[in-house]
Formats: sequence, structure tokens, C-alpha cells
Amino acid sequence: MGEVAVIGAGVAGIQAALDIANHGVKVHLIEREPSIGGHMAQLDKTFPTNDCSMCILSPKMVDAQRNQNITLYTLTEVKEVTGEVGNFTVKLIRHPRYVSELKCNGCGDCTEVCPVEVYNKYDAGVGVRKAIYKPHPQVVPNVTIRDSEHCIECGLCYDACGLQAVLHNDEDSEREFELSVASIVVATGFETFDAQRKKALRYLKIPDVITSLEFERLICASGPTGGIPRRLSDGEKPKSIVFVQCVGSRDITINRPYCSCVCCMYAIKNAILLREKYRDLDITMLYMDIRAYGKGYEEYYQRAQDLGIKFIRGMPGEILEGENRQTEIVVENTETRELLKLYPELVVLSVGMEPAAGSDEIAAALKIPKDESGFFAQENMKTNPVGTIKPGIYIAGAAVSPKDIPDSVMQGGAAAMKAFSDAIRV
Ligand SMILES: Cc1cc2nc3c(=O)[nH]c(=O)nc-3n(C[C@H](O)[C@H](O)[C@H](O)COP(=O)(O)OP(=O)(O)OC[C@H]3O[C@@H](n4cnc5c(N)ncnc54)[C@H](O)[C@@H]3O)c2cc1C
Ligand code: SF4
Ligand code: SF4
Ligand code: SF4
Repeated sequence: MGEVAVIGAGVAGIQAALDIANHGVKVHLIEREPSIGGHMAQLDKTFPTNDCSMCILSPKMVDAQRNQNITLYTLTEVKEVTGEVGNFTVKLIRHPRYVSELKCNGCGDCTEVCPVEVYNKYDAGVGVRKAIYKPHPQVVPNVTIRDSEHCIECGLCYDACGLQAVLHNDEDSEREFELSVASIVVATGFETFDAQRKKALRYLKIPDVITSLEFERLICASGPTGGIPRRLSDGEKPKSIVFVQCVGSRDITINRPYCSCVCCMYAIKNAILLREKYRDLDITMLYMDIRAYGKGYEEYYQRAQDLGIKFIRGMPGEILEGENRQTEIVVENTETRELLKLYPELVVLSVGMEPAAGSDEIAAALKIPKDESGFFAQENMKTNPVGTIKPGIYIAGAAVSPKDIPDSVMQGGAAAMKAFSDAIRV
């Protein structure tokens, strides 16, 4: 019997790995970040049920780690792939963690004593982390990582760790190694659109214009503000919020003609969650169309309207900083032809999805094509939606096209079935 490699350990990759492993085939789950989990680990609640994201994801992450048939490789990337279905060789490179995965128990004593604070990528820039840290409390594997770029070698963490798990040198682990597998599932997911590319929206110029991913961290109970939405300018709780839709999607001026599928629903989700918690908060959504296409989604949209969330059909050309540094949005309501001036205390840009950084290199290594939007191309969208032109290589989740969690999980399962079939033929 052959084995399977799954590249990318977001919810789609984890689902694929679990489904294959639970049928008795060995899986190598390859993730380039220090923890598995992907974007879902950054979310607060999930539409349309408003379930806590980590309450669903965390048990899957732990199952993946504990499963006897799954080997996890974090901080690991693919360098080269050769061979064919039934007999692929995958060359990998593992980057150093500077903490021994075998010795560390995740106690966090080292983090407490570390004097260095830097931007936390996991908190989408709204929070800080130490130079030795866990990206979030529920990381898998439950170990810290020392960031050698920002570490000032003060030595405090070495002294604090009773298990001698912090490593001075870990370059040995920056090593290349190979796997032999029968089939491969690619689930490398997405990146959010860089809102700085839409200059008129003044992202990073006006502090209270933030992205939806930053907003997810702001309202998350385990996030940097303990779940209370706060303005980045003065730390105050905003009294009015405007969500601006389709930022980096459906926009031919930046070569992003496609719809990102999830941003209408995640903005409605966040509006509902806020409105239910803070009844006096004034919430407006500026949109082109509301795309509520899935099971229960239209009813979810209706619930938002019933809660008094305002929906205005119209997109702002720009966001301005007016007198007294007040944020100003001028927008035409395209249904009434009325010209409106809004003065929100916080603006949330609903950024779209684009292929994960590095996916060109993955496509080149695997010799599989991408489509005109840059996502991995399906062999046949209708008859083989998780297949590529290369037998034995399958694709799943947001790496294929913008997608929500239920659809990503479904594709993870479908790709698992195909990869499993190849593995048992060997
Ligand atoms: C602001 C926001 C809110 C959202 N809210 C919801 C919601 O409420 N409900 C919902 O259903 N959906 C929501 N979504 C969508 C949801 O995040 C995605 O559906 C889901 O994360 C897709 O999972 P994935 O595994 O395909 O991709 P990802 O979550 O992106 O995971 C991909 C993984 O692959 C890894 N990876 C990438 N490249 C490589 C490489 N070269 N080598 C190794 N590893 C690699 C990444 O580090 C990552 O861990 C939201 C999205 C955003 C942006
Ligand atoms: S490196 Fe040591 S101190 Fe830090 S979390 Fe691991 S075991 Fe605890
Ligand atoms: S040695 Fe580096 S990581 Fe450790 S406490 Fe000092 S600054 Fe932080
Ligand atoms: S899902 Fe909604 S906000 Fe996102 S691109 Fe499509 S129409 Fe725009």
C-alpha cells in the first residue's frame, strides 16, 4: 500500500488527511507555518450557524496530531516533486524552530520572560507577540517558536526553560528530506487581498480603516482586545461601523474580476454578532450585490435586516479623513439615487481572497496549471472538480477557488477519496 502527501494544513488539508488516515493509509501532512489550522484558526465565529470557529477546528487539529497514520511536518515546504501516480518523490525543506519539538511542553514560561514585542501576523497586525511565542493558545503542535530575526539573544528564555528546550542553534533541522508517496493533495488555501492596493480606501493611512481579517481578531474573545471591538486610533469602542464590500474582488481595474464568495456572508456574520451584543451600535453595509447563495444563507441575511443593520447598495469611490480626523465616506445609493455622507467611527474593508503566496512555485513543482484567476485549475470543473490534469495530484479548498468552510471540508473529503484510491492500488 502506498502513502499520501497533503500539502497545506488548513481545514481542507486537515479534513483530507483525517479521511485518508482513518481508512488505514499513511499520510504526511505538510504545513509551512509553525502550527496547523490555516485561516479558520483566526476566525471568531462562523456563518451561518455562528459556531465558535476554534470549537470546531481545534478537535480536528488535535485528532490530526494524535492519529497514528498521520505524520505532521510544520515549518516545512515543498522544493521539488518528481515521478508519477503511484510513485512520486516529494523533496521537502524544514525550517528551524529554535525550540525542540521533542522537549517543549508548551508551558509558556519562556514567552513570559522575553522582553521583545513584535507584530503578530496571526492577529493580523492588531496585536503583538514576543520573540519566542505561540502564534495562538491552541497551536498544534503545542510548542513555541523562537523568531531568530527579532531575538536579541538576551538569554532569559534559555534560563526560564527547565526542560532545556530552547535551542541556540537549530540550523541542523533546516534540512532537506524526501518522501515517497502514491498521490498528493494540494490544499494551500488563500491569502486575503492587500487593501493597500486600493489607494483611495486609505488602508494603513487612516488608522480606523481596517480589514475584515483584522476585525475578526478584534472581536475574537481570545484576540488582542478580549473580543471588544476597539478603534486602533484611540482604543475607544466605536459607536458606528461601516462595512465596505467587494474590496479586491469584482474589480477589473486591479485584475480581480471574480467574486470572493465568502465576504458578503462573513460581513453579515460580524454585523449580526455585533448588533446582538451592542444594540445601540449603528451598522451599515455598502455593497454591490448581496450574494447569499448557500443553505440557510438567505435567511441569515434576512436576520441581519430584521436586526436593523442598514444595507445600502452603493460603493464608495474613496474614504476621506475630514476635519478633526473624522472618517468620511461619500456614497451614492444606487437604488434611490441619493448622495449620502457617512461619518463612521470604524470602517471594515471586506477583503477578497487570492491564491496563497508561493502557489506559483507549488504549481511549477507539481507541473499543474493554474486558471486565469491564479487558483489551481481543475481537470474538469463538473466531472472531476478535485482532479488536476496530472493523475495522482488532487486539489481542495480555497486553493481551487474562493470558498467557505463547508465547501472546503467537502472538497477535502472528495480529494481524500481519490488520493486514497491511488494509494491502495500500489
Ligand atoms: C475574514 C474572513 C472571515 C471568514 N469567515 C468565514 C465564516 O464565518 N464561515 C466560513 O464558512 N468561511 C469563512 N471564511 C472562509 C474560510 O476562512 C475558508 O473557507 C477556509 O479557511 C479555507 O480553508 P483552506 O484549508 O482551503 O485554506 P486556508 O485556511 O488558507 O489553509 C491553507 C493552509 O495551507 C498552508 N500553506 C499555504 N501554502 C503552503 C505551502 N506552499 N506549503 C505548505 N503549506 C502551505 C497555509 O499556511 C494554511 O495553513 C472567512 C474568510 C475570511 C478571510
Ligand atoms: S521552550 Fe521551555 S519554557 Fe518555553 S514553552 Fe517550551 S518547555 Fe516551556
Ligand atoms: S533570547 Fe531572544 S527569544 Fe529568548 S527571551 Fe531573549 S529576546 Fe526573547
Ligand atoms: S461575496 Fe459579496 S462582498 Fe465578496 S466579492 Fe462577492 S459580492 Fe463582493
